[in-house]
Formats: sequence, C-alpha cells, structure tokens
Amino acid sequence: MVGLEIDGAIAVITLANPPVNSLGLELRRALLLALERAEDEAAVRALVVIGSGKGFSGGADIREFGTAKALTQPNLLSLLKAVEDCPKPVVAALSGVCMGGGLELALACHYRVAAADAQLALPEVKLGLLPGAGGTQRLPRLVAIERALEMIVSGNPQRAAELRETLLLDAVVGSEPELRSAAVQFARTLVAEGRGVRRVRDLPVCSGNAEAYLQGARATITAAAGPYPAPPACLEALLAAAREPFDAGMKRERALFVTLMASPESAALRHVFQAERAAARIGGVPESTQPRPLSRVGVVGAGTMGGGITMALINAGLPVVLLERNREALERGLDTIRRNYQGALRKGTLTEPALEQRLALITPTLDYAPLQAVDLVIEAVFEELPVKREVFLQLDAVVRPGAILASNTSALDLNKIAAFTKRPQEVVGLHFFSPANVMRLLEVVRGAATSDDVLVSAMALAKRLKKIAVIAGVCDGFIGNRMVLGYGQGAHDLLLAGASPQQIDQALERFGMAMGPFRMNDLAGLDVGHVWRKRLQAESPQRDLFNVADLLVAAGHYGQKTGAGWYRYAPGSRVPLPNPEADAYIARCRAERGLVAREVSEQEIIERCIYALVNEGARILADGIAQRSSDIDIVYLNGYGFPAWRGGPMFYADQVGLQAVVRALKRISASAGREAPFWEPAPLLRQLADAGRTFGQGGTGS
Ligand code: NAD
Repeated sequence: MVGLEIDGAIAVITLANPPVNSLGLELRRALLLALERAEDEAAVRALVVIGSGKGFSGGADIREFGTAKALTQPNLLSLLKAVEDCPKPVVAALSGVCMGGGLELALACHYRVAAADAQLALPEVKLGLLPGAGGTQRLPRLVAIERALEMIVSGNPQRAAELRETLLLDAVVGSEPELRSAAVQFARTLVAEGRGVRRVRDLPVCSGNAEAYLQGARATITAAAGPYPAPPACLEALLAAAREPFDAGMKRERALFVTLMASPESAALRHVFQAERAAARIGGVPESTQPRPLSRVGVVGAGTMGGGITMALINAGLPVVLLERNREALERGLDTIRRNYQGALRKGTLTEPALEQRLALITPTLDYAPLQAVDLVIEAVFEELPVKREVFLQLDAVVRPGAILASNTSALDLNKIAAFTKRPQEVVGLHFFSPANVMRLLEVVRGAATSDDVLVSAMALAKRLKKIAVIAGVCDGFIGNRMVLGYGQGAHDLLLAGASPQQIDQALERFGMAMGPFRMNDLAGLDVGHVWRKRLQAESPQRDLFNVADLLVAAGHYGQKTGAGWYRYAPGSRVPLPNPEADAYIARCRAERGLVAREVSEQEIIERCIYALVNEGARILADGIAQRSSDIDIVYLNGYGFPAWRGGPMFYADQVGLQAVVRALKRISASAGREAPFWEPAPLLRQLADAGRTFGQGGTGS
C-alpha cells in the first residue's frame, strides 16, 4: 500500500492504494510505518510523500465510517499528528485528486508542491460533515478566510494553479510527470539551505479580520443551508480557528464533527453516496462484461422526450440520427431543441459556435435508411403499443445486427415490445425523465431476454451522459412511476377526507419534497395519469382508481399547459392560484361518497403519502423489480424531488422504524374500503418489521 525508496538524503514515500489512495486502516498503518523507518534512517534528511494512480489521495475510506476500523489506531488524527511532529521536513507532492482527508494529510505536511492541474478540495460538507482532521484549523492558516470558508462550505475543488499565490502551495509545476523530481529537488534544496520543519499549526490565521468576516457571513450561510446542519458547523469551526489557539480549535472541530457524524442528515447523505455507487452494480452480470462500442445513436420521435434525449446525447458529443413521421413534426422538434438552448446562450454558459457545433451532430430524417449504421436506437414515440410495434418492426428490419434497440416507454410491457423483433436480447428500456437533457435519473429496464452486455452498455451510456442509472425490472411503471401511483392515491384520499390541494402540497413541501403532488401533477399534465388510470382500471376492475383529476381532465383542465388544473394560472405565469372549480369537484365527490370533510393533520398527510411510497417500494423489492432498497431511494431522490437530507423513502422508513410504518399502514387500511389491499402492509415490510430489521439490512430484491 505504501512504497519507500531512499534516494540519498531524501526518502520518497509513495501511496499505492488504487484507485484513489483512500486512507483506510491498512494504508494508515503502512504510511506510519514508512514514516517511522524514514525518520529512523540516519542518512535521510527530508521526506517526500507522493500519490500514484489517480493522484495524491481521495481521503478517508467512507466504508469505514461508523465502524471500529475508523477508530483503530492509527486513526487519521494520530497519523496526521505523527506527520506534523516528524523532526525531518516532510514535503507533500500533490497531483490528481487531493481531497478530504487527503488534503488534510497534505496540510499536516511541512511543505507542499503541486502539479498545476491537481484538484484540491475539502468535500466533507457534501456528506453532511466537516473536515475533521484539522482541515478547518490548518486551511485558514494558509489561505485567506474568504477562500477557506468558500472551499469548506461548498466542498468544491480548486485547481492547484488557482492556489499558486497562497501559502498553501510552496511550488507549482506544469504537469504530473515532473512532479516527483520537482518535489525531490525541492526537498534537496530545503536540506541544502538548512530549512527545517515548518508546522502549519504554528502559523497565525492568514486574515486579520477573520472573526468579523465569519460573524458577518453567519446569517447568509445558515439561511442557505436550510435543513443541513453542516455548513453552519463549518463556519463555527473556522471561528474557533480565528479566535482560539490551535489545540483548542482542534478540540472544537472534533466536537462539531462528532455531532455532525451523529446527525440524521449526514447519515442520509452518506447513504446516498454509497447508494449511488451500489446502483452501478448489476446483479448476476459478471463484472468483466464489456459494453458494446457506441459512437452513433438514433432517436425515433422528436417530441418532448425525443428532443430532450437528443440534447442529452449531443451535449455528450454523440452524433444522432433523428427520425420523425412527417416534416412538420421534425421541424417542430428541431425548432424546440434550438429554442431550449436559448437560455444557455443568454446565460453565457454556451456560445453560438459551440451550439452550432452541437446542432451539426444531428442528422434529421424521415426515412429509416440512415439508422442502418447506428449502434443504438432510442424510441420515444407515442405511448401506444401499436405505434411501438410499427416502429420496432421497422427498426428490426433496418438496423444492423448487434446494435441495441431501446424504448423510452413509461409503463408499457417491454417484453411485448422486445417480442416485436427477432432480437429480444438486444432490446432494453431506457426510461429517461422529463426534461431528459436536465434530469439526472435513468431507469434501465431489463427485459426477460435482455443480454448482459446490453445492460452494461446502457449503464455505460448513462455514465457518458452524466446520469445516474438504476436497473428496473418489467412491470407497470417500473420503479418510479409505479410508486408515484400510490403516492398520488394517498394524496387523493386526503382530498376526499377534507384536506385541500394547497394544504397537502405545503405539508409535503415542508417535509422537504421539491414540489407537492398537486403542483407536480399540474406541471406534468393531468392527462398523463388519466390515460394510465383508465388502462389500469380496465385491467383491474376490482380496484377503485377514480380520481378528481379525471373530472378536471374531462372539463379540459390538464394543468399548467391549459392554464388550470388543481390550481389556476394567470396567462404566462406558473404561480399556482386557488382554483374554485377544482375545489367544487372535490366537494362534489366527497358528497357523492357520503363523506364529511374533517380536519386532516400534517402528520397524516406525510404518513399517507410517504408510507404509500414505502409500501409499494417493499412490494417492488419483493417482486425483484428493484435490485436493492437503495436503488429505490436513488430513483426518488433524482427523479421525484425527494429531499437528499432524508436519504430517500426507504432510508426514511428505516429511520422512522419499520414497526411504526406498519402500525400506521394498518390504521389507514382499516378505513380504506375497496383500496384496503393497497394499504395493507406489504409482506416484506411486515417481515422486516417483525424481525426488528431495516430495508438497509434486508432490502435486497429477489
Ligand atoms: P410526444 O407526443 O411529445 O412525442 C412523440 C413524438 O413521436 C411526436 O413528435 C410524434 O410525431 C412522434 N411519432 C409518433 N409516431 C411516430 C412514428 N411512427 N415514427 C416516428 N415518430 C413518431 O410524447 P413524449 O412525451 O415525448 O413521449 C414519448 C415516449 O416517452 C412515450 O413512450 C412516453 O410514455 C415516454 N415518456 C414520456 C415522459 C414525459 O414526461 N413526457 C417521460 C418518460 C417517458
């Protein structure tokens, strides 16, 4: 894990724990050992610590958090103290990633030399934490307080070249290959000039007015942080650096770190971090499976989704053949794409020539022939099986063997679509979310016959498009929309019980959802759910899927696009105003069912809506539609505006306690009439609750 070479008077210690030299227990032990050996070696007069692979070090090993390993000696704090206390000067040589504990290690060294493009960051805040190994105390002794605050509160990386003028870096070299010799040369010069150790702890905080600056920034930081406790805690730790001696500051940093580590918000953010990594693993597919080469894509349909998907592809530099059924639709689609880029042009995030370059990647066509040469086709035509059939028959006839055929269907049976072709193993679902060029989520739908390398190729495409992909099995609505149906049902029941759309939306927005269900429904269009419910109702007549939305749709109120839905909208405005017509429909439906409006509490709103998600999530897991409960969380966080600081619906349920969730569901089920089976706690949920376990411990899809 660590190499030690002695080059005359200089010992070079190389961190070698790929991919990012994370500072797990084994590396910490090996580094300490190498340090002690170099210290003991009489000929050695100075040390260089350098990384390998992707750079210096990506920081702590997050898998150790909360385990005994993180506390086992040497922990990060004692390792850094040993480095700082080394009587021979230690030079850190920084390249590539130098983040979190990795940067804190560099700060504990006595000097730092960096390659110009090294990325330096203290990103702990993104996990709801603060740099807990002296980062908040040492950084403001090397850079101005404004910069220290910015780096620690945003967690964003800075290039070494940008930090050239600060005390943080003693030398910046052009590129990584020169780094080692430059750092060794720097160490030799130290020895030659008789310069000894220079401990950051002994330096004063850079800015004379640090305390006043931080006091002034407190209100803004706290307001911007909202429910997240970490940014204000970062500020408090910096205040301690400004006010107190180093050791007292370190104590304060530790106390704040321990509090954050125990906070539910940090637990949620760490869960999300690990969930994102877990989502990339595909059950039953060997890790050695290679994706198919992908250099040219076809998109069929240039409507809302086809247009957005085309933008996502050309933004990633992929050429696209875009097929429509007639010239008007094609022109309309291309115009919309161009118009959608106007915002970026106005904001200056895109230049006119760069836009033209992207648009030049599109080959518009009304004819299937140009699709012959593509490696992947994504179909985004109307959500009707006969239309999908017509398109897939043509694709099967034209597109070269070995190319992947994907459908963006929201809820249709992918296996039926695959069966329209003679190559079902090459068919996969790529369920993008609207707007497809913006939304980060992609559900990769695994058909019964989809081959392993097609799935791996789909995941690789997601990565190329900077999206997060989750594998879903075939069912009505896959993971996300299947759950949202129950969520909507929960919200609708509350309307009939006596709550208003505003009350429900506000309660869920206070819970942290980006948008309440009725505002969301108005934005997406009431017609979408209406069509889906009609089909489901016909397929399952025993269910009662009636919704006031169906009356609004019948009256021509589809939401924002028609100026009214659950709310009213002034022309050109997106501000929701009360809609008396919707209220009248709600009152009428209540009366028809013999219901009398009652008080509905905020807690009841949260329970009905969120537990509906959890209950359906448990069924999705048991059915094997999702591979793991954390994948469901990823879907809700990235596709439906669930708050990251709550970690996703399944993680939230684990925090609340599954027994409490089961009790609440039973209460709801007892008064749910024909919909009682929907509210009945799912068997998997019940089993886990009975066993005192959580989804995190037992929520793996079958
Ligand atoms: P849309 O009506 O905006 O666009 C469909 C486009 O397909 C139209 O431009 C139409 O001219 C074209 N088309 C129809 N038949 C065609 C054919 N035979 N050949 C070529 N082009 C044809 O619909 P949309 O919202 O973009 O939805 C497309 C698909 O994406 C549907 O399967 C839908 O369920 C799914 N989807 C939609 C959303 C959403 O939020 N709108 C989200 C995810 C998935």
